[in-house]
Amino acid sequence: MSVSLRVLDDGAWVSVNDSRQVSVSELWRLDAPEFCSCTVPDFVVENFQSVGVDGRTITANVYGQCIQCGETGVPGWIPVGRLKNGEYVDLDRENVVLPAHDGHEN
Ligand SMILES: [Zn+2]
Repeated sequence: MSVSLRVLDDGAWVSVNDSRQVSVSELWRLDAPEFCSCTVPDFVVENFQSVGVDGRTITANVYGQCIQCGETGVPGWIPVGRLKNGEYVDLDRENVVLPAHDGHEN
C-alpha cells in the first residue's frame, strides 16, 4: 500500500494522496505530559513540520501552543488520521490525541 503524504503551503496543510486533509488552527486536546504542565493541554496547531505513517496511522510532527499556559513547541508525533483500505479517515482530533513517543519509523 502506498500513500502520498506531504506538507503543503509552508506547513499549513497535511495532504494525503494529493488531498488536503488536516489544517492548522485546529484545537486539539492533547495528552502530552511532557509538553507542558497542564493536565489536558488545549493545543493550537500552528505549523506542520512533517508527516509520516506508522502502520495505518497518519502522524504529524506539529509546532503549536498550549492556550492554557502559553507553552510552545513540538510535542511529538501526533496521530491525525488513519488509512482504511488505502483511503484517509479522519480521527476525532477534538478529543484527546496521544502522541506517539516511540516506535515511529519515518
Ligand atoms: Zn499547558
